[in-house]
This record gives sequence, C-alpha cells and structure tokens, in this order.
Amino acid sequence: MAPSCSPVNSLHVAVIGAGAAGLVAARELRRESHSVVVFDRGTEVGGLWVYTPQSEPDPLSLDPARTVVHSSVYDSLRTNLPRECMGYSDFPFVPRPEHDESRDPRRYPNHREVLAYLRDFAREFKLVEMVRFGTEVVLVEQEGRKWKIRSRNSDGVSRDEIFDSVVVCNGHYTEPRVAQVPGIDVWPGKQLHSHNYRVPDPFKDKVVVVIGNFASGSDISRDLTGVAKEVHIAARSKPSETYEKLPGANNLWLHPMIETARKDGSIVFKNGKVVQADAIVHCTGYIYHFPFLNTNGYITVEDNCVGPLYKHVFPPALAPGISFVGLPWMTLLFTMFELQSKWVAAVLSGRVTLPSQEKMMEDTNALYAKRDANGFPKRYTHRLGVVAQVDYLKWIADQIGEPPVEQWRNQELEGGYVRLATQPDSFRDKWDDDHLIVEAYEDFLRQKLISAIPSQILG
Ligand code: FAD
Repeated sequence: MAPSCSPVNSLHVAVIGAGAAGLVAARELRRESHSVVVFDRGTEVGGLWVYTPQSEPDPLSLDPARTVVHSSVYDSLRTNLPRECMGYSDFPFVPRPEHDESRDPRRYPNHREVLAYLRDFAREFKLVEMVRFGTEVVLVEQEGRKWKIRSRNSDGVSRDEIFDSVVVCNGHYTEPRVAQVPGIDVWPGKQLHSHNYRVPDPFKDKVVVVIGNFASGSDISRDLTGVAKEVHIAARSKPSETYEKLPGANNLWLHPMIETARKDGSIVFKNGKVVQADAIVHCTGYIYHFPFLNTNGYITVEDNCVGPLYKHVFPPALAPGISFVGLPWMTLLFTMFELQSKWVAAVLSGRVTLPSQEKMMEDTNALYAKRDANGFPKRYTHRLGVVAQVDYLKWIADQIGEPPVEQWRNQELEGGYVRLATQPDSFRDKWDDDHLIVEAYEDFLRQKLISAIPSQILG
C-alpha cells in the first residue's frame, strides 16, 4: 500500500526493550511524531550486547522462577556477519576516526564494539532520554481500544499506564531451547545451555559434547578446544555415518546427533562412536517468550511459531494496537528492525494503511500453508534465509516508500553465511569479497554518512 499524504496521527506508544530493535523502533516512532516510552528491565541500552560475566544459577535455565540474565553473549564472541551490512541505513557500523583504542576496527568485531555502536546510535539520535531503565514490563493487555502496560521498577514498585499502542521488542535469545537426549535423565555429567556459557575455563581438561553446529555451537566448540581435552560436536543435520576431525584444532570432532546418554557417563553418537564425556553444552537455540502478554489466547507461541502475525509483525485482530519488531531470523537483522519499525510507525500515524483483518488473516494462513507444503516445521515460520529475506525486506520497503535494501548488503549476507558454514575456523579473518566492502564504503560516502573512505579499505 503506497504511503498517503493525509495528516498524521500522533499516538502514545510503548516500546518494550531498548536493544537493537527497540532503539530503532523508538527513533522511527518519534520521527513519525508519536510520543514514545521505552521500557527496559536492564540498566543500559544494547540488550543482548550488554555482556555480563554472570550467568543464571540454573545452567539449563529450566526453572521458570529463576533470576533471568538477559544476555547470551560469551566473552570471545565476535560478530558472525561483516560489520558493513550490520548497521542501520543512515548510521553505518564503521570504525570512525574519533574512536579510541578501546574500539575494535576489525570487519568482524568483538561484542564490545557492537555495544559501543548501539550506544553511539542512541546518543546520536537522543534515544536514551526515552528509556525507563530498570523497569520490567510484567503485563500487557487490551483495555477497550487502548493498551494497559503494568511495569515494575527495580524497587519493586508497580505502575499501570495506558498507551494507544505497544511495540514488542523484547528479544528472542534469552529463553533456551534444550535438546531432548535419550537417557539424559540418568547421565551423571554436567549440562549447560549456551545462554549460560561465558568462558571456557570451567571445562579445562574435560571431554565436552557440544550439541548444535550453527553459529554458537561452532564458536563455542572452538573456544573450548583451547582448554578442553576433547570436544565432540553433535550435529542434527549431519548424516548418521558422519565422523570427521575438524580443522583448526587437534581435539575437535564432528558427529551426527546423540543416540543415547548412559548412566556410566558415556555418550553414544548415531555413528556408533562412544565417548566418556564430562559435560554437554546445548547450543540448540532459543524460543520466543512473552511472559507479560495477555491477549486472551489470541496470540500464541506453538512450536516456536508466534501467531497469527501478518508479515511477522501485526496480529490481524489486534492490529495496529500491538506489533512485534524483530521476530524473523536469518536476515539482515538491524536492517529488518529498521524497516519493520518504519512500517509500524507509518501505520500508526495513518500514513500507510493495513489491509482488512480478513485479508491479513488470509495472507498469514497462506504463509503457514506454504510452510507446511514445503515440509518445514512450525518452528521455522520466522526463518527467512538469504532468498526469502530479500523479498520480505523489499515488500516492507515498498509499503513505506523506501528504496530496496542495497544489493551489496544482501550479497554480504549471502557470502557471509556461506563462509560461516564452509570455513567456520577462519571466516572472520579471511574473505574474498573486498569489492563489496569498497562498494559499501562508496555508498556511505555518496550518502555523506562518512567523510572519507579509509585508505586501508581502498588497499
Ligand atoms: P535484545 O538485544 O535481546 O534486546 C531486548 C531488550 O528487551 C533487552 O534490553 C531486555 O532487557 C529488554 N526486555 C526483555 N523483556 C523485557 C520486559 N519484560 N520488560 C522490559 N524490558 C525487557 N545479529 C547480528 O546482526 N550479527 C551478529 O553477529 C549476531 N550475533 C549474535 C550472537 C549471539 C550469541 C546471539 C544470541 C545473537 C546474535 N545476533 C546477531 C542476533 C541479535 O539477537 C540481534 O543482533 C539483536 O541484537 C537483537 O536485538 P533485539 O532488540 O531484538 O533483542
């Protein structure tokens, strides 16, 4: 739907979360003349990127009453995508001449650099003044045509407030998904989820099984090789005969999934190999979790599908009063946060209209039908991937009259994922797409987002 030129509605909007999604949502909402309050239970902006050496007392995070630690970042973490493609459209994630030595100029920088970038972004656009830190949202529910938010501050004081609209940006890398392993109940070793992994030291001289071989599994297993005796990766996607010694370390093996865990401490893989293991690290991902949300059962999370949601953002029967920014994955996340936020802001102001509830529901059901016909499990509903994400982001950009995402950005994402999968031990330091870096910087220069292209980029 093309944006209209009619006068805009200015609404009172609550944003839950001041991470990469909530910050840009707040900026776009304010740009569209809405009044915005951002709630964050943490003490600073950045969400997931606010590293803490603390982890949760329950190493698998199974206890619903546990004290939640938000961040899942481990100490050695560097980005898994090149920085040029990670930043927001008008605030590139580039090393800047004014940055001091504490900053990390590498193409795949450490997590501190991402946090520093988000702090710079918040400062540049004066976003911090909109955030109520140390304030947890404990209830969101409709009250008439408006929305009630109940929050609790760090002194335990609760407060109810009414908003015209709520934008949910609470992140989805905090509530772990734990692998079901036959026999695990009697297996005597130590288990932990990657959410609670920070440093390899506690695994010194141990035999460790890492379940999962995507970004975190691959990183953490390599982090462990420096101190552990042996590291064995169990990968669900690998054929049952798989047994490989992986490059980059002399104590790292790749297996298919675990067949069974035994009382004597051994782990049997589907390839028949048996190891006597001390610990299992579950790098098995996370689940969407909205403990504060009461929609009388309208919005559900079933097998990690949040729905029903039109284009992963608006629940048809409740739109546009409540929206979700940041659910899809395997995409250019910061770019998607920004585009979704612009769309939400423009819909709320009336500059862009949504289809009827029936049409939104039809579209959502068509997405589910396609997913089922392709044999994808429900939990992949919000997984975009390199091809679908181009169409998805273009569709949103079209709604709000924004240009499509730059080609170099999509190409960096695609190449980045290929390198991550094919050279997991070296993808952050060896690449063959220098031409895309140059293209990105030329683009930033053309748009006057930087004042010069650093000489090392031009070679
Ligand atoms: P978050 O950053 O998690 O922020 C959510 C915020 O909501 C938090 O500040 C939290 O305190 C707040 N909150 C939650 N619940 C409440 C509540 N009830 N009340 C008040 N506040 C609340 N992406 C990339 O683009 N590049 C990468 O290299 C990359 N690496 C990653 C590595 C790991 C290990 C993980 C887990 C993810 C990685 N990601 C990466 C994805 C990352 O999640 C996104 O980049 C992005 O930072 C997520 O932002 P967000 O705002 O959606 O969520």
